[in-house]
Amino acid sequence: MSVAENLAEIKENIEQACQRCGRDANEVSIVAVTKYVSTERAQEALEAGIHNLGENRREGLLEKYEAVGDQATWHFIGTLQSRKVKEVIDYVSMIHSLDRRSLAKEIDKRASAPVPCFVQVNISGEDSKHGLPASEVESFIEAVQDFKQVKIVGLMTMAPHTEDEERLRGVFRQLRALRDRIRDKGYAHAPCEYLSMGMSNDYALAVEEGATHVRLGSCLVGGQ
Ligand SMILES: *Cc1c(COP(=O)(O)O)cnc(C)c1O
Repeated sequence: MSVAENLAEIKENIEQACQRCGRDANEVSIVAVTKYVSTERAQEALEAGIHNLGENRREGLLEKYEAVGDQATWHFIGTLQSRKVKEVIDYVSMIHSLDRRSLAKEIDKRASAPVPCFVQVNISGEDSKHGLPASEVESFIEAVQDFKQVKIVGLMTMAPHTEDEERLRGVFRQLRALRDRIRDKGYAHAPCEYLSMGMSNDYALAVEEGATHVRLGSCLVGGQ
């Protein structure tokens, strides 16, 4: 399937999910996760009208950036080692995987302008998932307030691999409730308006539960 065909179906699903819960589909940004696919396929996504591309490794990002450059808005969605920050920081517009103070400190040191970051939260509590436990997110956000180049724009999570709709909804709702609580505190450095949640298997549910950024690989550009 072409990216354009996949995108048409995804947009329709997002539209329907928005109708079910009374949201405006324009509130939902699609990030095409190109980590599994070629640069050519990433370019096809741009031609289909997607501007947001996501990569989870420095190598993949740099390789595609070389070909695509600033035609795309680049999202870093994977675990980021502090020592690699300086290599990617000039290319990425958003980091979805902020999960420790040392990383925030390095971003602050290397960035020349404030970087919009999502705090990654491990809602499901699975060992295999990265991210902060929900109980530590508020103190973490307070602990990074002096880093002028780190702007907390939202929270991100990866839901467990399950078909269990209620369990998935539960995860998304917890992230949203945490987002609401932080947003309502009105921190200057942490407006925390966005929710990066929803992947190929669960994005319609995530949209129903308030996702503002869905990260789509397999169902949009292709998987492994
Ligand atoms: C790979 C990846 C995705 C996309 O996964 P699909 O299931 O292929 O849509 C989304 N978010 C993160 C953090 C990823 O690593």
